[in-house]
Amino acid sequence: VIELSDVELSLGRGAARVHILKGVSLTIPQGQATGLVGPSGSGKSTLLMTMAGLERPDSGLVKVAGQDLGALGEDALALFRGRHIGIVFQSFHLVPTMTARENVALPLELAGADDAFERAAAELRNVGLAERMDHYPAQLSGGEQQRVAIARAVAPDPAILVADEPTGNLDESTGRSIVDLIFALRRERGATLVLVTHDLSLAATCDRTVRLRAGRIETEAGTEALAI
Ligand code: ATP
Ligand code: MG
Repeated sequence: VIELSDVELSLGRGAARVHILKGVSLTIPQGQATGLVGPSGSGKSTLLMTMAGLERPDSGLVKVAGQDLGALGEDALALFRGRHIGIVFQSFHLVPTMTARENVALPLELAGADDAFERAAAELRNVGLAERMDHYPAQLSGGEQQRVAIARAVAPDPAILVADEPTGNLDESTGRSIVDLIFALRRERGATLVLVTHDLSLAATCDRTVRLRAGRIETEAGTEALAI
């Protein structure tokens, strides 16, 4: 479950200060897939980072899997993120000096798993990269890098999985296979998914669509009621 209540958030300093989220309240039940859409600059990425505990709101409440993120100090929050929140970015964000397997093992090691390296191998096989485990990110295609990033995100069995335009840097057919993979893993593990996308047909394949405009939730609809 993800619960946001009256979240206000500003970023930047001085003249560059921007009031981005303006009273966002939203509840996403466990296991639900939500598509988050809206114009460029409306605050989608910021909202996603707030749900993931990577941005702290100025005011309001953010609760993930029953935990009030605002009640956690920096170290406790980092630990909570590592265990319960999986994040996938448009630009993959793999550690360039680590192999695919080391990248996937990293969050497991941080969570204290003693079989991190074995589990990383299993996760990579699961996303179809059995033959690419010892490759470095620069030796992988974009689609392969995103598969590694997805394996890394789901490896700790997070309660929630957030993805910010995960297909934005990929061609159409690779993008489709990445989306299929994210949906399959979500079903397999019962994770709550929040997917930011510009692709309305992709958003419509989610259980529900939330539209953001200028930092406010404008429309919330079941897929059938989504107006463009
Ligand atoms: P896009 O679809 O283009 O990715 P978005 O909906 O994800 O857009 P955000 O990245 O959340 O939008 O940004 C929302 C607004 O906040 C934008 O106007 C942006 O310029 C501003 N913004 C984002 N980060 C900062 C920051 N660190 N400092 C100041 N302003 C910021
Ligand atoms: Mg964005």
